[in-house]
Amino acid sequence: MVRLSPVLLLTVAAALARPGNPPGPAGGPAAVPVLPPDTGLVEEVLDLSDHTVVLSVDDGYHSVFTDIYPLLKRHRMTMTLGIITDYIRSGEPSHARVGGYLRRSEIQELLDSCGIEIASHGMSHPFLARVDSAMAWREIRESKAILESLFGTEVITFIYPYGNMNHRVRRMVRQAGYKLGRAVRPGDPDLWSDRYRIPEVELRLETRLEDIKARIRRRPVTVLLLHQVADQPTVFTQWSTADFTVLLEWLNRNQVRVTTLGGLYREWWTKHLDRFLERVAAAYPDGRKQLLFQDVDVDATEAAHPR
Ligand SMILES: [Zn+2]
Repeated sequence: MVRLSPVLLLTVAAALARPGNPPGPAGGPAAVPVLPPDTGLVEEVLDLSDHTVVLSVDDGYHSVFTDIYPLLKRHRMTMTLGIITDYIRSGEPSHARVGGYLRRSEIQELLDSCGIEIASHGMSHPFLARVDSAMAWREIRESKAILESLFGTEVITFIYPYGNMNHRVRRMVRQAGYKLGRAVRPGDPDLWSDRYRIPEVELRLETRLEDIKARIRRRPVTVLLLHQVADQPTVFTQWSTADFTVLLEWLNRNQVRVTTLGGLYREWWTKHLDRFLERVAAAYPDGRKQLLFQDVDVDATEAAHPR
């Protein structure tokens, strides 16, 4: 929902009360002052505190550390970082890819300073629907194990390389223990019905900042896919650093909540659990629940009771 904040209302009220404003005809109400066009005033004071944005950054380019990280830190924001495990430099496992990708120590710093979510983007970024099952499984399962052992944090999100997947790939992702899969497709995230094909909106060379702001204003949850920012974007996976800077300032000013895909999942799970417990409670008459627990004679189960 979009609401005008009290700040804007006060601004308009103050403008109306200004002595210079001409009185209305025949002593009627004062004429409403016309705001100059394109001031951005209305937009800048929207209350979007019930709107959520996920920054989903793919591939782990080194520019994430130099250009995105400082902005996240300044605004106390976070992101979901899709990492290709073969590309991590200076640390096990490192296949010493040519430069341009994040080092292990830098990813650790992003984790420590911004509480980012580490997501798997595979080991070598293949088209998973095109490779054989053994390779697809290795890419999905081992990348999770590698990231968890390198960073000591549970990895619950898989980002399909190129967004390429099919039913078989999604099933593997679920069987490997991931809770979410982020796709490359339009739409609104719905964790109830489609947790393994989460849609996104991509920030790429031709994306207009105003279109992104409009989208965030219209939708309660927006997942923004970004690969890298550049002062002078030249390839389609780059977005303008200036636009990205303005976007984060705008999100901050309008109180848009910025979280991770894992953060969305945890909130969804809490709601899911609440609904489940409500159903359990509704299924039993009053007092029956306590009875069920009280009636269990633990000693009679002959289970070992380690103390
Ligand atoms: Zn990718």
